[in-house]
Amino acid sequence: MTNSPDHDIAQRLAAVRQRIRTAEVAYGRQPGSVALLAVSKRQPVEALRTALAEGQQAFGENYLQEGADKREALADTPIEWHFVGAIQSNKTRAVAEGFDWVHTVDRGKTVRRLSEQRPAERPPLQCCLQVNVSGEASKSGAEPDQVRELAHAIAELPRLTLRGLMTLPEAVTDFDAQRAAFRQLHDLQARLIDDGLNLDTLSMGMSNDLEAAVAEGATMVRLGTAVFGPRPEKKP
Ligand SMILES: *Cc1c(COP(=O)(O)O)cnc(C)c1O
Repeated sequence: MTNSPDHDIAQRLAAVRQRIRTAEVAYGRQPGSVALLAVSKRQPVEALRTALAEGQQAFGENYLQEGADKREALADTPIEWHFVGAIQSNKTRAVAEGFDWVHTVDRGKTVRRLSEQRPAERPPLQCCLQVNVSGEASKSGAEPDQVRELAHAIAELPRLTLRGLMTLPEAVTDFDAQRAAFRQLHDLQARLIDDGLNLDTLSMGMSNDLEAAVAEGATMVRLGTAVFGPRPEKKP
């Protein structure tokens, strides 16, 4: 066996799948109930092709131009494209037209634009509402007390389908502190479900906190470096 980049990605992907499966078993989750989103920002097209050949179909991108270039280069593939970057309100069209999913919806203005700009011939844009649970490092994400109103607004728009909630918590190493942040997201989601919203996705957990996220009910973990290795310095 050589140490080619392809081989590395195949090995990392296998290790990540094992890690997810181990966490599912450890925390009483149904095996296979936690999906992997491979976050491929700044990774070259060949890296995505390799992961695809290993059975990975869902990829997350953070930058609109890079995402468009990759979609074009990989137009012959069945990749499901997820946008996980910050949404500037003047850039909603590129998200609405180019992606299958968006995880970072956090404002009413963006919500309306995404629905208006979603092309009629495509299925509704699958959305997660990003929430700033306490301690979130970035300032993006809706505040917990805004979640209910925003979630209902998304659920009413014809061209959007609200799938659930997403969070990007502060990177802490303490397992209980990691779990506490994810539990907040889970509890917010449970309240929305009590309200009658049909939600099936909790997008939470990255390379350093995936076990805590699975323990608290994550259904989609977003992993970049754990799948592809370190990100190249510059965008490809
Ligand atoms: C980059 C990124 C990830 C993946 O991060 P890694 O540390 O590489 O696993 C997950 N979610 C979001 C929103 C990201 O921007």
